[in-house]
Amino acid sequence: MGEEEIYCEMCGSLIKGKPFKALVDGTEMILCANCYNKLMKSGRALPAPERKIEQKKVEKPKKAFKSMDQFEIVEGYGEEIRKGRESKGWTQAVLAQKLKISEALLKKIESEKVKPSIDLAKKIEQILKVKVLQPVEFDEGEENSLSPDKVTFGDVVVVRRDED
Ligand SMILES: [Zn+2]
Repeated sequence: MGEEEIYCEMCGSLIKGKPFKALVDGTEMILCANCYNKLMKSGRALPAPERKIEQKKVEKPKKAFKSMDQFEIVEGYGEEIRKGRESKGWTQAVLAQKLKISEALLKKIESEKVKPSIDLAKKIEQILKVKVLQPVEFDEGEENSLSPDKVTFGDVVVVRRDED
């Protein structure tokens, strides 16, 4: 096996012996003992957090609803409501009363001239056991803010500890 040659990322010299890892201005660097000591003294470098060599698993964010409260009214809601109402044997007046809305408004909703509010639609679903709401899906090109960690030199370098 050949020797790993590790160069100091600060001064560029071949590191003999143990390389040092440090965070310099927030960037992980491999340093020679010289630079490491200098930077640590000056306070520019911090000890690097111990990092596992294997790549972090980047968890893909699940396709999620941004909010559980994002609903929209389904197509054909008027028909759904009318069928639900009729299956209960209720007139529009009866249902309007249960929903605490005017009969005129219910008529408009059933004929799909007016879309019920989400709150009203929820009430309708509860009372009639019909489906008039569906969750809004947000799957259009969501930016992946969790970009995979850039592989830095510190990640790929093999620190040989078993050298004599
Ligand atoms: Zn150096």
